[in-house]
Amino acid sequence: MSLLDFGWGNEFAAGFKPYSERGLLPARVIRQLRDLSLLWTDQGERSGEVSGKFRHRAADRSAYPVVGDWVAVELSGDDRAVIHAVLPRRSAFVRKTAGELVEAQVAAANVDTVFLVSGLDGDFNLGRIERYLTTAWDSGASPVIVLNKADLRTDLQCVVNEVEIVAPGVPVVAVSATAAGNLEALQPYLVPRKTVALLGSSGVGKSTLINRLLGEERFRTAPVSDAQEGRGRHTTTTRELVRLPGGALLIDTPGMRELQLWTDDEGLGRPFKDIEDLAARCRFVDCSHEQEPGCAVQAAVGEGTLDPRRLESYLKLRREVRFLALKKDVKTRRQLEKATGRRFATMLKEVKKHKPSYK
Ligand code: GDP
Ligand code: ZN
Repeated sequence: MSLLDFGWGNEFAAGFKPYSERGLLPARVIRQLRDLSLLWTDQGERSGEVSGKFRHRAADRSAYPVVGDWVAVELSGDDRAVIHAVLPRRSAFVRKTAGELVEAQVAAANVDTVFLVSGLDGDFNLGRIERYLTTAWDSGASPVIVLNKADLRTDLQCVVNEVEIVAPGVPVVAVSATAAGNLEALQPYLVPRKTVALLGSSGVGKSTLINRLLGEERFRTAPVSDAQEGRGRHTTTTRELVRLPGGALLIDTPGMRELQLWTDDEGLGRPFKDIEDLAARCRFVDCSHEQEPGCAVQAAVGEGTLDPRRLESYLKLRREVRFLALKKDVKTRRQLEKATGRRFATMLKEVKKHKPSYK
């Protein structure tokens, strides 16, 4: 199998030129476990770690290789490899790290299509689809909404219609990943050498889906009793890129209970295009759509053409990304204060005093 089978192409080859001149080889990260990467190279699988220089230069965690990344490596004798650089990502799923830390975490890179998987059981939630969709649009990959556990619903068409409204312009497919289910609807998106990532909370059936597509029990799945109650469990532990029998590449990302956004106001434009279109007709340019007069968004809610739940969801995500912007700001200030040993307010005063001259 060659690198082309793992998705290598001209767009990466161009960026790789300076590294090939240094005698390095391209490789794709197919599994990531803490600091250790499992790599696919022209010489087969190797495990590798980043070089000391890389570690020294990395601005933060998001610079480190993740599953799906193309990297520049130097092979050493004992089947190992040293990673010297990560090639620019064509797409990347970025979320905020869990907890208080204001830091981005990249879950997967160089993804062409993302399957946003939801389970049509008790855990089904439109708000969560909107949240995942925001991250997906932001990543640069094309989203497809996959509604799994279709066997549990008799009102399938109803649910699909509902989802189509919250995901304008995004394909929505319903499948059943369990043995008897039909996965035909996914085929158009499973293209040889293209990378598909699965994103979704734990328990939605991602492992079951991958096992079915692979035709083998590669990933551990949760006991059925949990699924019947619609309860998710943390079942997948590593991120891995696998090659399907048909040649498509699939990345599983670990299930998560909560996906914290790492974007800004602009990142909400695409997933909430219907609301942004309405907003263009609000009386005030900076209308917050909460209680201003002449608000076209509120008017649409009043007329019944916009679901109040969807507006609430939009406002909630907007609060979240604005709060994140504030926290990023505070973090930048602290870093500056630490680096200079001086207070931010003092520095600000000085900058204001000495207006730059553009001569
Ligand atoms: P993951 O955490 O997203 O990887 O989810 P799993 O693949 O572990 O699945 C969670 C549970 O849902 C398991 O008990 C599966 O058997 C069950 N499950 C997965 N797909 C389906 C489906 O299409 N229908 C039904 N009824 N259950 C499913
Ligand atoms: Zn408005």
